[in-house]
Formats: sequence, structure tokens, C-alpha cells
Amino acid sequence: MASETQRNIVIIGGGIIGSCSAYYLTRHPSYDPALHKITLIEASEIAGGASGKAGGLLALWAYPSSIVPLSYKLHAELAKEHNGKDNWGYREVNCGQLIVKGQVIDKKSNADDASVSLQKRDAAAIGKLRAAGIPAGLDWVLSDGIRGYESMSGPGETAQVHPYQFTTSIAKLAEEKGVNIILGKVTRINQEAGAVQSVTFTDKASGEAHTVPATDVIVSAGPWTKRIIPSAPITATRAHSVVIRPTRPVSAYTLFTNIELPSKHNPKRSTVETPEIYARPDTTVYACGDGDRAVPLPETSADVEVDPKRCQDIIDSVGSISDELRLGEVVKQQACYLPNVDARGGGGPLIGHSGTKGLYVATGHTCWGIQNAPGTGKLISEFVFEGGARSAKIAALDPQRFM
Ligand SMILES: Cc1cc2nc3c(=O)[nH]c(=O)nc-3n(C[C@H](O)[C@H](O)[C@H](O)COP(=O)(O)OP(=O)(O)OC[C@H]3O[C@@H](n4cnc5c(N)ncnc54)[C@H](O)[C@@H]3O)c2cc1C
Repeated sequence: MASETQRNIVIIGGGIIGSCSAYYLTRHPSYDPALHKITLIEASEIAGGASGKAGGLLALWAYPSSIVPLSYKLHAELAKEHNGKDNWGYREVNCGQLIVKGQVIDKKSNADDASVSLQKRDAAAIGKLRAAGIPAGLDWVLSDGIRGYESMSGPGETAQVHPYQFTTSIAKLAEEKGVNIILGKVTRINQEAGAVQSVTFTDKASGEAHTVPATDVIVSAGPWTKRIIPSAPITATRAHSVVIRPTRPVSAYTLFTNIELPSKHNPKRSTVETPEIYARPDTTVYACGDGDRAVPLPETSADVEVDPKRCQDIIDSVGSISDELRLGEVVKQQACYLPNVDARGGGGPLIGHSGTKGLYVATGHTCWGIQNAPGTGKLISEFVFEGGARSAKIAALDPQRFM
């Protein structure tokens, strides 16, 4: 059997997909550290890209349905086995869609007036929230301007993790079982007679080029995948996000919003903002805005350009529906690139054999890579050690259909 021979397995990319692949390879029954050398090569830092800057929602109604239930279940198992509650903020979370007319209030005028947000919680305000169908626990959105609320979570259907904490913890757990993590940028996958032979990278610290032998290579470079495999139909969309420490801890909700606000360019007109808002167990609140293609994908995650105006738009829009957020402290303003699949009819992610012997692809997870990472990692471990996917039927995600 192939797994009884010496293998040099190289994973390219230390985002959530590469880290989960490393983890599940070390948990596969055929993994033998005496025979199987696993190396993960990451260009800048573990979880330095979208995997450390995403929202972190897990949902049974996410896509694609071929891997969502597997991955959702694996998230719960990982949390149980490794105390995900404390280590990466795993918990079940409420989720809903909120349609609202935002309130434009000068931040400074209320900054020192502690009674403002308390005043909003009078009986009339609470009555308005109830009338709009807002759950009793969601008491940190303003009652004025609410047009509707719809729950998106049945019991056990939605959960969350802190993506940066999850990814770095999983990478560490893989490292503890023998994975060698190297910081360096892969420049080439060397092939001979239709099979991978080795991987060349530039070491981050020394700037020197090194080549490591490889029997198996997993490309999990997210939005950078096309720079390693030019035929991979992966594009990159930039997205900004912020982290706010609210004036008081807020309840466990993730909100997809639709907020009508006066246009900044022409106050007589209105515009609709759609930030996603995620309350986190560490008492912060994360919010992200729409994507843009204004700045092309840079060389590495460390070179991503953050546009302060786009962050301010997110801060203003979420502040317009919550005093707790408007008067809170902004602790992070950041941006990252989402890996999209540019194929007819969309689809993806791409998980499996590339067509070249020993070359596997795990990429193109669009906006559900946090949710789908454990399932992807487990399936990749099955491709490498068993020759094919066992835990889910994923013929539709076969990279050879896309490349
Ligand atoms: C604003 C936002 C919110 C999101 N919210 C959610 C959510 O709530 N739930 C959810 O499920 N998903 C969410 N996502 C999607 C999720 O973040 C991504 O699908 C996921 O992080 C992709 O992971 P990845 O490992 O493929 O890519 P990345 O995180 O980009 O990792 C790729 C890694 O490869 C490295 N790399 C690239 N080139 C090389 C090279 N040549 N050599 C070595 N290393 C290299 C990079 O440095 C990087 O670390 C969100 C995304 C965004 C942008």
C-alpha cells in the first residue's frame, strides 16, 4: 500500500485550509511519522490572510451541501476534543437578517453621555423591537428605524469560531504531531514525467532559495493559487473589516444587515449598506463590508493595502444601528482577499487531484472557507493516504473539472 512507503508531503499555504489539511493528515490512521514527512510552507504568517480576518460564522445552510454537514460536524468534534470554547471561541450563535433605517448621530455629541444608550432601552423602545420581531436577547440594536428581522438559525444550525485563533491553534496541533512549519514563499513546484518531484521556496528570514523533495504537494494558497497553478480559475476580491469593543458585552448574534443611510456624497439621497456583524465571545464585535477589486492582489498577505475610508464606512454604518457599537472603541481596521472561483456557473471549492501525479488542490472556498475547512482537510488526508475522498461525495468539486 502506498502509505507504507516513504512520503514527503508538502502543503503550500498556512491559511485555514492548509492548516486543517496538515491537522487531518496527522490524524489519518495511515499516518506514520517515521515514514511520512509533512512540511507546511507559509509565505508570511499562519492565518495572515482571510483565515485570520474573516467573520467566523458556521452554518448548516452554507454551501456546497456536499461538504457542509461533514465540516459542521467536524468543527463540533474539534471543539470538544481540544476545548475550542476557550481556545478559539467556538459556540452556537443566533443568526438573523436585519432591515433597518440607520440613525445618523454625531458621535462626539453623545460620547460622554452615558445616559444615551440606557435611555434607548425604555419600555417604548423595547416594545418597538418586539413589534418588529426582534428577539428579546438582541437588545443592542436601536429600536428606531427597524423595518424587519428574520431569523436564519434553527436550533443547532449556526455556530461560530474566532478564525485567527482557530487557524493558529489547528496549525499548532498539527505541528505537535510532527508537521514542520516553514515560513517561506513557494516559487515553483518542480515536476518530472508528469509527477511532482520537489518544491522550491524563498526562505522568509534569510531570503535564500531552498528546494525540498516532494512525493505529494497540496496547494492551499487561497487567492494566490493562480500564481502557483496558472490554470486554476481562482480570482481575488478584497474585503475590509473592523473589530469594535462595544460599551458593554453584547449577546451572541451574527447579523446580516441591510441599512439605509443618507449618501455621504449627496445627503438628499439614500444608500444601502450591508455590513455583516458578529458578536464574539471575547466581548468584541467584528463587522465586514462589501468586497472591492480596486487594488489587485499583492505579493503576500503582509502587503495588503487597507483603505481607512472603507473601514470608516463600516464603522459608521454599524454605529448607525447600535449605540453600543457607535460609542465603542475601534480596536482593528484590516483588509484581506477572498478566494473566488471564476468558472462558468461559479461553484467550487476545488478539492482533490489536479491531474498531475502527486499534486492536489484545496482552494476557492469563497465566503465559506472557515465553515468548510475541517471537511476539506479531512478529505485531503483521504486523497493523500487512500487515493480518494471517503467522507463525502465530492465529484462536483473535482479540480480537473475546473482546470
Ligand atoms: C470579510 C470576510 C469574511 C468572511 N467570513 C467568513 C465566515 O463568516 N465564515 C466562513 O466560513 N468563511 C468566511 N470567509 C471566507 C474565508 O475567510 C476564506 O474562505 C478562507 O479564509 C480561505 O482560506 P484559505 O486557507 O484558502 O486562504 P488564505 O487564508 O488566504 O490562506 C492562504 C495562505 O497561503 C499563503 N500563500 C500564498 N501564496 C503562497 C506561496 N507562494 N508560498 C507559500 N504560502 C503562500 C498566504 O500567505 C496565506 O496565508 C470570510 C472572508 C472574508 C474576506
